Amino acid sequence: MKTLNDFNFKDKKALIRVDFNVPLDDAFNVTDTTRITSAKPTIIKVLEDGGSCVLMTHLGRPKGVDEAFSLKHITDKVEYIIGVETKFVSDCVGSEAEEAVANLKPGEILILENLRFHDTETQGDSGFAEQLSKLGDIYVNDAFGTAHRAHASTTIVADFFPENKCFGYLMEQEIKSIDKVLKTGEKPVLAILGGAKVSSKITIIENILDAVDHLIIGGGMAFTFIKAQGGSVGDSICEDDKMDLALSILKQAKEKKVVVHLPVDVVAADAFKNDANTQNVDITKIPDGWQGLDAGPKSRTNFHEVVMQCKTILWNGPLGVFEMENFAAGTIALGESIAEATKEGAFSLVGGGDSVAAVKQFGFEKKVSYVSTGGGAMLESLEGKTLPGVAAILK
Ligand code: AMP
Repeated sequence: MKTLNDFNFKDKKALIRVDFNVPLDDAFNVTDTTRITSAKPTIIKVLEDGGSCVLMTHLGRPKGVDEAFSLKHITDKVEYIIGVETKFVSDCVGSEAEEAVANLKPGEILILENLRFHDTETQGDSGFAEQLSKLGDIYVNDAFGTAHRAHASTTIVADFFPENKCFGYLMEQEIKSIDKVLKTGEKPVLAILGGAKVSSKITIIENILDAVDHLIIGGGMAFTFIKAQGGSVGDSICEDDKMDLALSILKQAKEKKVVVHLPVDVVAADAFKNDANTQNVDITKIPDGWQGLDAGPKSRTNFHEVVMQCKTILWNGPLGVFEMENFAAGTIALGESIAEATKEGAFSLVGGGDSVAAVKQFGFEKKVSYVSTGGGAMLESLEGKTLPGVAAILK
């Protein structure tokens, strides 16, 4: 696996695919800079070697050229975060871009205009990728968030750098973190899957059964497993057409000696709203008219014990409707357990959509080992797929 440290960038121009698809407010201010700060170590390494950086990214989903999605809006923010003067060129390919790159000196940064102003980017067009390839000596992919897309700048362009291509530090960290869970991590390995539906996580469950020793199934998806085993789940979210599948997953888990932990109690509500009436009930005896919206106190204690036994922990998906304050306690308790296990030496990876939001919202970000920056890319990796952006560097 070729990484940044395999290259010395002195007098070289690094063409770096970053993921600066950042949120902007109405006045075009960047409201969350995480994606820019995540790419900083890679950019600094190139600059400190004595090289220069040509940064390429998409921003939003423009249909053709659209000022509202111009990267000129974020150039100042990048300059502020990296601490180096940052230039901008108003097209990502063509003579203007080539000239701007030719004039770039060691220690300088250039941002190319939004890749998606050309629809050939998402089409993975080889001619467009070849034009991009003229803008650097070494191709660096540090955009984990788009690594699951075979776009020109994330995948196809790598073909034009047969020797001179590598992962950036962010990509390297993402790939190694997922590898720890799926292959190299210290045992016992635990995966915690929560969230709304079983159907969106089937492939992940089936893939990780080969990698883990313990599996906690929480959140809305637990009810399909409980009902499939004869429990009464009241009005809780449940996919009746996935009950056979739930039973088959439990059977496979048993065969593979994976211990499955389901909630034993829930906070049930008489409506899907924060100020509904609530009661703690056995998860197999939820009365009609009531729905389970959070893990109950006994479940939280059980999950804590499992988490504390494990040395490698993956967390994907909340244990309840954490967006509503009164149903966030189960998710918060789990975050606290994972933080404690991490403090005692476990490796913990949080990734994929809502669990990242929950971890940030409740302040656990710095207390877990790694929070993935890529939603879809992380989920596809957990499904066992090799991401096109990763494969393009490896081949
Ligand atoms: P996912 O995107 O599949 O990870 O699902 C995340 C969503 O699952 C969050 O918006 C939660 O509110 C929701 N969720 C978690 N537990 C429950 C539950 N018991 N009932 C309904 N929705 C839930």
